[in-house]
Amino acid sequence: MKKLFDRSGIASLLFMGAISVFLVLAIDFYLVNSAFSVNEDVAGSYTPGTYTASEDGFEGPVEVTVEIGDQGGIKDLTIVGANETPDVGGAAIPLLKKAILEKQSADVDAVTGATFTSEAVKLAAAEALAQAGGEEVSTGPKAPEGDLFIPGTYTESAKGFGGDVTVTLEVTEDAIESVTIEGGDETENIGSFAVEMLDDRIMEAQSPKVDALSGATVTSNAILGAAKKAMKDAGADINAFPDKKEEAVAEKKNEELNTDIVIIGAGGAGMTAAINAKQAGKDVILLEKMPYAGGNTTKATGGMNAAETHYQAEQGIDDSVEQFVEDTMEGGHNINDRDLVETMAENSAEGIDWLDSIGAPLPKVSFSGGATNARIHAPEDGSGVGAYLVTSMLKKVNELGIDVMYNTKATELITKDGTVTGVKAESRDTNYTINAKAVILATGGFGNNEDMIVQYREDLKGTVTTSAPGITGDGIVMAEEVGADLVDIEQIQLHPTVEQKTSMLITESVRGDGAILVNQDGKRFTDELLTRDVVSAAELEQPGSYAYIIFDQRLREGLKATEKYISTGITVEGETIEDLAEKIDVDPKTLAETLNNWNKYVADKNDPDFGRTTGMEKDLSQAPYYAIKIAPGIHHTMGGVHIDTSAEVLGKDGNKIPGLFAAGEVVGGVHGGNRIGGNAVADIVVFGKIASDSAVEWCDQN
Ligand code: ADP
Repeated sequence: MKKLFDRSGIASLLFMGAISVFLVLAIDFYLVNSAFSVNEDVAGSYTPGTYTASEDGFEGPVEVTVEIGDQGGIKDLTIVGANETPDVGGAAIPLLKKAILEKQSADVDAVTGATFTSEAVKLAAAEALAQAGGEEVSTGPKAPEGDLFIPGTYTESAKGFGGDVTVTLEVTEDAIESVTIEGGDETENIGSFAVEMLDDRIMEAQSPKVDALSGATVTSNAILGAAKKAMKDAGADINAFPDKKEEAVAEKKNEELNTDIVIIGAGGAGMTAAINAKQAGKDVILLEKMPYAGGNTTKATGGMNAAETHYQAEQGIDDSVEQFVEDTMEGGHNINDRDLVETMAENSAEGIDWLDSIGAPLPKVSFSGGATNARIHAPEDGSGVGAYLVTSMLKKVNELGIDVMYNTKATELITKDGTVTGVKAESRDTNYTINAKAVILATGGFGNNEDMIVQYREDLKGTVTTSAPGITGDGIVMAEEVGADLVDIEQIQLHPTVEQKTSMLITESVRGDGAILVNQDGKRFTDELLTRDVVSAAELEQPGSYAYIIFDQRLREGLKATEKYISTGITVEGETIEDLAEKIDVDPKTLAETLNNWNKYVADKNDPDFGRTTGMEKDLSQAPYYAIKIAPGIHHTMGGVHIDTSAEVLGKDGNKIPGLFAAGEVVGGVHGGNRIGGNAVADIVVFGKIASDSAVEWCDQN
């Protein structure tokens, strides 16, 4: 397969915003100098001289110095933004400098994605220009001398990952009394944790200068930016507030813990295992390196495949475990481990019952790609299965009093005479030695570890990923260190419709509801609903290795998911097909012809070009029209640790590694060469439970 993109993977990761931990790295002092200086006298109406003013930026004061030349124009401009996050606020600084110099005014457009920094720069520049005889600017209200705030309730918004976030502060003269954050669409992704957690952080610190939630930087920055704006409305001097960011601890303390079962990773498999083991009466420690649970499970949108369930029976759906096995094998190009597939299918109905029992029923059954019968089970209210399961499981975890150690990363398995007897882990301030009778690996895949991706699949270098930030293959590395065998490790699933700057996955339902894919020449190039690997490969053959997904207003109105794509700003809109074509730099005539042909194929129920037969119920004829530029992204790492049907980890010698169990995306073999939709959740629930049952049994015997 050819190389996907020329640009480096790190650069695209940096753009990933909400799912990029790199964004939290702030440069101590970010100085942009004369890259765009005019350095010659321009005519203007300011008073010659040098003037400086400063305003609150995102991470501290932003200082602007303007140099007015002899003819009264802005000759040069220096912007010093202490601590502005380099690739968000920092990147905006040169753009703002250029704009102000070109326009000879501070009244320029804010830079998208860096509104707070932009506003600070604009305001400081306006103040400096006011000193030079320009128009006076209001610097906003000021709290009376000795007070922090003008008492009252203040609300401000900022753009988050999926739309606006709104922060409301109630303040007295000297304290923040309450913080309310409303997250809009952030609730569907990791940003929802930022929405839930940052109010407490701000309250506790009595300052907006707190750490962003790692992995949810865009949402965090929007919230903290809005909080700062609200504080400024309340007359506060943001620079006077204490910086409450946590610093690295020089010397960590050591702590030893003892338990029955340690489970590494609080995603779907880990939480299933933890709940089941606790219900069986075992002492459990659940380690999670991120500040929140969920991993890639949170992102699952479809549902859980299961055969011969009571929901199917109640709805008169005929299905069988055997057919489930055959569909999975065929989808996986028959390289799957058949024993594991049979185990998953045979236990899937019981998995559905188990979810019922913990208060997470999946009663809505429908068809999904690659399944012969209606088999995918989803929540009643149509919400995304992953977020629903994570919320329900977390509730159960809390109810059962399971000890979840967040921000604690497992680093090494402890062994004694070849038996796994615990885990070494570390948090910000502590090194843990956790002794246990059994360890369950539930660390997920390695989709967000570019080095590992390249190690196993050089051709995927630079490919963006839809994986959550914590999905870095730690479990695979730890297992290998104790001799575990790996299977199908090079089998990595690409998803064909991933927006590249945000890594946002454009759900298959968009194509399922009738969208088409066109290349930069405005032409279709595939049956858009073939399997993920085939459509991805077809995209990579197109000029520039990308495509556009095209849909219309009718489709938008019928599919809620599209609203997020529009509010995030990744969608281009055109009043007519030609208008849309011009905006995406495609020949308007060609695109119009492609759409006309397509609409005719839909009417005839016949696609003579590529033989598409599904997702052809409605044509694309209702303006306005929409396009999202997409390319393949890494979606699921199907290979991983080798287990047997009891979820016990096998060594390279084929023998069991005593005391070590694994489940979920960390495991290889279940999905073979291509995972079909709905099987990730089946895998998590079924093998999460089996790993847990086996670990419980192991504890009882040892
Ligand atoms: P699964 O398919 O097993 O449900 P998920 O991706 O949903 O996988 O969850 C895996 C979880 O494991 C994530 O929450 C991730 O942050 C966590 N994790 C990964 N590596 C470690 C580690 N070394 N220590 C603790 N938690 C980890």
